[in-house]
Amino acid sequence: MRAKKEAATRQRPGTNGELEAPPAVKLVGVTKSYGRNPVLKGVNLTVAQGELVEVTGPSGSGKTTLLRLVHGQLRPNAGELWVRGRGLHRRWRRGLRGLRRDVAFVFQEQRLLPRLNALENIVVALQVRDPLVPNRAIKQRAIEALESVKLAHRRRAYPHQLSAGERQRVAVARALATRPRVLLADEPLASMDEENAAIITQLLEDAAAKGTTVIVASHRHTFPASRILRLPSAKVMTNGARRPLLNGNGHANGSSNGNGHANGNGHTVAAPAASAWWRIIIPARPRPHRAAKTPQLALWRRIAAFTANAYRLVLLSGLRSWSRDVRLTTPVIGTIALLLMLCGTIALVGVAVERAAMDQAGEASMVRVYLADGATQDEVAALKAKLTADSRVVSVTEISPEQALAEASKRHGLDNLASLSSTNPFPASMDVRVRLVTQVGGVASSVVGDPAVDPSYPTSYDPDTYSRLRHFALVAGGIAGGIVLLFAIVAYVVIANSMRGIAASRRQEVAITRLLGARSWMLRGPFVVEGLTTGALAGALAAALIAAAYLLAVRFESTVYFQLLPGVDSTSVQYVLAAVITAGLVLGTATAMLGFRKARA
Ligand code: ADP
Ligand code: MG
Repeated sequence: MRAKKEAATRQRPGTNGELEAPPAVKLVGVTKSYGRNPVLKGVNLTVAQGELVEVTGPSGSGKTTLLRLVHGQLRPNAGELWVRGRGLHRRWRRGLRGLRRDVAFVFQEQRLLPRLNALENIVVALQVRDPLVPNRAIKQRAIEALESVKLAHRRRAYPHQLSAGERQRVAVARALATRPRVLLADEPLASMDEENAAIITQLLEDAAAKGTTVIVASHRHTFPASRILRLPSAKVMTNGARRPLLNGNGHANGSSNGNGHANGNGHTVAAPAASAWWRIIIPARPRPHRAAKTPQLALWRRIAAFTANAYRLVLLSGLRSWSRDVRLTTPVIGTIALLLMLCGTIALVGVAVERAAMDQAGEASMVRVYLADGATQDEVAALKAKLTADSRVVSVTEISPEQALAEASKRHGLDNLASLSSTNPFPASMDVRVRLVTQVGGVASSVVGDPAVDPSYPTSYDPDTYSRLRHFALVAGGIAGGIVLLFAIVAYVVIANSMRGIAASRRQEVAITRLLGARSWMLRGPFVVEGLTTGALAGALAAALIAAAYLLAVRFESTVYFQLLPGVDSTSVQYVLAAVITAGLVLGTATAMLGFRKARA
């Protein structure tokens, strides 16, 4: 009942009102040239669902170019190109990844991932194609695919350990395992013996019988294709005698409806579900034979499968690449660690300088007035009253010689001063806090000559202190900035160079994974993981070195340490360590993303 209704909705009125299958691939006047070298000139071809078409012609006639156009790797210069309802001649890059998951490509040069073995190559293609499929099902399918090309016993072999013919078979198995809607095979029988050629031919034929549209490029005609496109003439020949297009698999077919995409021998092949034109535009429709093998799973199982596949595709693959590239990443780790260590140390110095500067600013607005030895009580009281009356003065505190001594002995480095002499060297004094630092000089000179004040050494005011302090801060900051800048330039050069090496080694991988239809996060993810690992290691290394230096200094050389970095306690060190590790993660990720951009370019 429902099926009937669906069929009715699906039906698009053809010229004679019959059920009509939209073409899987349609080229109208497609022209492609490389620069000034025209390769394809006005090619017209319409391929129905489930049809097997062969493209033949001498070497250099444009067979590969035609397949690459259909795969969206190239854009036609003129004409229309439709693949499964998508106009590849217009919004070219949009939806390309989705298309690639529907359209599989068997490359002439196989393009297996060099660092994965035969089985893993197929597994990755399946994970990329549909990350919602549980791993066990993916493995199972991959093994079946290898068995179908008689290579199950070579599943652990890496591409470089396989013969060209074996690689070709793995490539075919990888393409077929994803159960594509359209299969593009570029010279799939090249470097293959008769027996294996027969196996591959049969597999492609079976795929077509199950509803996959197959376009094979071969320099000489060998396939049981229903039609043959000859290049460079672009003539389409019917080859109806070679192959019965339908082999009783229950797929519906309409008789020729004369609308230009019938396949030449009077048959339009269509799987029932594949015939709905709107379903071609909306992807992810289960095809009959796929639905039979992978029934829709419960939501939680799909989420679990997705999580597991994302973990494998991103985290595991990233860590794997990282450990393989470790020879290349070591200089990056070293450079980042050194840079961070330098920055961390400078940050600690900065903390010390800032604390000292704050102390200085506090002390600078304070001037100590030294009292004369013979000053009377009245004279001192008069001086105090005079200072308190001054509008520039905030407060006046009397300091006895004992207080001055006690204060001095609290200071680091001065603590043994008291024991040096049996008499107290400090005179009685007054601490005068002035409102503005700039007014200190005026207040200091106003007390000079007062009877209560020591005539030889009246105040602690030293006009040079301020300029010296500022000068010191400027010079220290300049040196630190210069060192960091210089180091950053060196680090950039080293990192950029190392990343270029990594990018070069990964370019092929990224390109292949992209052609398999990988989503952006599948490509970027492993690089982020690699970068985070590199950065975390570099940050941890730098942090460990700083922490070790701090602990050793505090433990064994505390006097030197407290003089070099006064006020830098374990809290500030902890902040600096956290900052160093964070900076490491950021730098590592940034470097990796730089490498990714280079690898993708
Ligand atoms: P076939 O697969 O039939 O041997 P191709 O499609 O690979 O032929 O190439 C067709 C022509 O286009 C050849 O002359 C080839 O040199 C040229 N060609 C192919 N790819 C490129 C390219 N990327 N840049 C420039 N010329 C190319
Ligand atoms: Mg070719």
